[in-house]
Order: sequence, then structure tokens, then C-alpha cells
Amino acid sequence: MIGSDKTSTARGGLSIERPTGVAPRALTARPPWTSRFLFFEGSDVMDTAEAVGRLLDVAHTAYSLRLVTATAGNVSVRTGEGFMISGSGYSLGWLEEKHLATVKHDGQHTAGPTPSLETSLHAAVYRSIKEAGSILHFHGLWTPQVAIMDTLDPWVPSVCSPDFAALFPDPGIPRVPALAAGSVELVNATLRALARQPRGILLCGHGAVTWGANSREALFAAEIIEMAAHTDYHARCLNQPGGCGYS
Ligand SMILES: [Zn+2]
Repeated sequence: MIGSDKTSTARGGLSIERPTGVAPRALTARPPWTSRFLFFEGSDVMDTAEAVGRLLDVAHTAYSLRLVTATAGNVSVRTGEGFMISGSGYSLGWLEEKHLATVKHDGQHTAGPTPSLETSLHAAVYRSIKEAGSILHFHGLWTPQVAIMDTLDPWVPSVCSPDFAALFPDPGIPRVPALAAGSVELVNATLRALARQPRGILLCGHGAVTWGANSREALFAAEIIEMAAHTDYHARCLNQPGGCGYS
């Protein structure tokens, strides 16, 4: 891992290597985001060659983690003039450079195959959140189960890790209503929800969208949501809520 001193800490099922020169901080129930998640090399705002490598790496990993299946989901990384995004209809698991589309910040498609149906949503998030270097839309195996519960807006898991608490402080994750993929209504509802909780949202009965300063942060956020959804779903089934903040 780039810039890591290989010091590893396991919490809530996650093993995290800390970057060189950054002293570990004491854990709290609500640790500040920046002390916990800037483990990597800053923003993904980069040239095209770097963007391609990073985008393919995260796409393949998301597929391996079953955050996406078949041709579902989409991922993008910001570049100097806009962003690169997975093409429509391609599997993230088998994504190649020829499957990547280049898009300007205003949503104009400039190169590559037809971009993802959710390109307008990615463009809107990049325009509204300057810190966003990467965006991931995923479904997962468990996230849709909690996203379909209409009593959960915002969603606060009955059990969650300190990583979740850091990423999604009170009042939890907002849930966007069920709206057509690629629609203006979905874009506007997503922006309203992100204004409440800027690191990710649930899409009703569908999945979730996360963003990070770089693509690995966006992937971490997705992993954390999926793990919390897995645990929360079973805790609710067993009627055994455990509270937030275990370590
Ligand atoms: Zn989807």
C-alpha cells in the first residue's frame, strides 16, 4: 500500500493500514472522518492514464466484493476537465479501458462508449461537491434490504462499527425515494440528500451511492454500508439491536 507503515488495526471486521507519519488516534464513538479515512494518496483528480488504472482497480474490486453483480452499478473518477465513468451495460468485474467514457463536468459525453445511465447524477455530484474525487453506485447483497424499509429515513443501523459512525454521524444515512434511473428527479433528490449527509445515500429499494476524495475512499464507504446493512438486517430479524459504537 502506498505511503503505509504497514501498521494494521482490526476493528469491526476491517483491517486498516495507517499512512506513514500519521500517529494513530485514540478511538472514540464519533471519531473525526479525516483522521480515519484519509489513508490513501489524496484526491483522485489526475491525468487520464492514472484515472483509467484507478477506475479499473476499484471496479474490479467492487465486483469481487459482490458490491455489484453482472452489469449493475457504475463508478467514476474525476479528471482535470471532467470525469471518466464506466460505460453503460458493461460489467464492472470485467471492465477494460475501452469500456470507459469521458465526460465533462456539464455532463457532455466527449469520448468512449455510451456512458452509464447515471452519468447525470455523477456530474451533478462533482459539480456540487468539490472534494469529491470519485463516486460509486452499488447495490450489494444487503444494502437493498435496508434501503427498501420505508421507516428508515434516515437509516441508523441497530448495530454499527466506529467506521460507520465516523462516516455517517447522526442522524445516519438519508434515503432517496424510488425514482427512475437517470431522471432529473433522482439527481435533484440525491443532491438534497447529500446536502444532509455528504458521504453517501441510500436509494430506496435499490442500493446506494458513495463518494470519496479518491476511489478507494468511495469503495471503503460502500464496504462499510454493506457490512452495516448485513449486520443490521440480521439484528432486526433476531430482534437483537446492539447499538452503535462497538470496537
Ligand atoms: Zn443501480
